[in-house]
Amino acid sequence: MKKDVKKKKNITLYVVIPCYNEEAVLSETTKRLKEKLEKLIKQKVVSTDSRVMYVNDGSRDKTWELIEKIHKEEQLFTGLCLSRNRGHQNALLAGLMTAKNYADVVISMDADLQDDIDAIDEMIEKYNTGSDIVYGVRSARKEDTWFKRITAEGFYKFMSKMGVDIVYNHADYRLTSRRALNYLENYKEVNLFLRGMFPLIGFSSDVVYYERKQRFAGESKYPLKKMLSFAWDGITSFSIRPIKLVLTLGVVIFFISILILLYSFIVKLLGYTVPGWTFTICSIWIVAGLEMLSLGIIGEYIGKIYNEVKARPRYIIARNLNEEEEK
Ligand code: UDP
Ligand code: MG
Repeated sequence: MKKDVKKKKNITLYVVIPCYNEEAVLSETTKRLKEKLEKLIKQKVVSTDSRVMYVNDGSRDKTWELIEKIHKEEQLFTGLCLSRNRGHQNALLAGLMTAKNYADVVISMDADLQDDIDAIDEMIEKYNTGSDIVYGVRSARKEDTWFKRITAEGFYKFMSKMGVDIVYNHADYRLTSRRALNYLENYKEVNLFLRGMFPLIGFSSDVVYYERKQRFAGESKYPLKKMLSFAWDGITSFSIRPIKLVLTLGVVIFFISILILLYSFIVKLLGYTVPGWTFTICSIWIVAGLEMLSLGIIGEYIGKIYNEVKARPRYIIARNLNEEEEK
C-alpha cells in the first residue's frame, strides 16, 4: 500500500530523443513536445523538473547548434552531444543512462514524432498503476509503405521463431522506470538491441497501442541496408538457435551417411558397381557427416562462450520483503 501512494506523487519525466541529422524536424518536434509537456505539468501529471533531452548522435548538419539554441530559449529542453556518430541504439542508451540520474521515468522516442506523443498520458497512467516498463505498440501501419510493413512485420515473426523474446510491433517508443534503467546498466553487451533487452529485465510491464504516422520532414535514417543489418544484429545478439541448427543438420547428415554406407555395401555385394565407387561414396558421406557434426559440437561451445561473454545478470530481484519491513 505504502508503495502505491509513493508512486502517485508528481513524477519527473524525461523524454529522450536520439537525433542524427535531424535539423529539418527539430523545431516542429520541439513545438509539439513543448505543448505536450506543459500540459502534463499543468495537469500535475509530471513535475516541473521534467525535460526533453535531445541526444545528438554525431550529426553532420546543424542539429547540435539547434539543440543548443533550443536549450537556451526553452526551459524544458536539454541536450547531450556524443563525440561522434555511434548509431541509434548507442545514442539511445547514452540518453537513457544519463536521464535516469534526473528522472523517475524516461520515455524514449524518435525525433520525427512518427510515434503518437498522445500515448504518453496512457504510458504514465500505466506506470502509476505499477508497471515498470510500458511498451508502445503500433496498432496500425496504414501510412507505412507496403514494403516497410511486410519487411518489418516479417522481422518480428522471424525473431520470435529464432527464440528472441520481443514485443510484437514495438520499436523503441517506451516508458521505463528508473529502477528498470538501473538494471539495464548491468547488461554490458556492446552489440545493442535494446528492444530485446527490456523483456529480459522483467518486472511488470504493459503495452499502449498507437497509430504510427509518416515522417513529417527529413529522410529516414534507416534505409533497407541498415534495417537488414539491424535485424541480423538482433538475431545474432540474442539467439544461439542458428548454431543449434548446425548441430541438428550435423546429426541428420551423420545418420544419412550411415544409411548410404549400408546401401553402398549392399550394392557392392550384389556386384552392381564399378571399382572404386563404394570407397568414393563412403568417404564423401562419412567425412561430410563427421565434419558437420564436429562443427555443430564446436558451435555449441562457441554458443556457451557467447553467453558467458555477455555476462548478463542471472536474476533481478523485484521485491525483498525483508527490506520493505525495515522502512
Ligand atoms: N538515429 C540516430 N543515429 C543514427 C541513425 C538514426 O540517432 O545513426 C535516430 C534518428 O535521428 C531518429 C531515430 O534514430 O530519431 C530513428 O530514425 P528514423 O526515424 O530515420 O528511422 P525509421 O523511423 O525510418 O525506421
Ligand atoms: Mg522515423
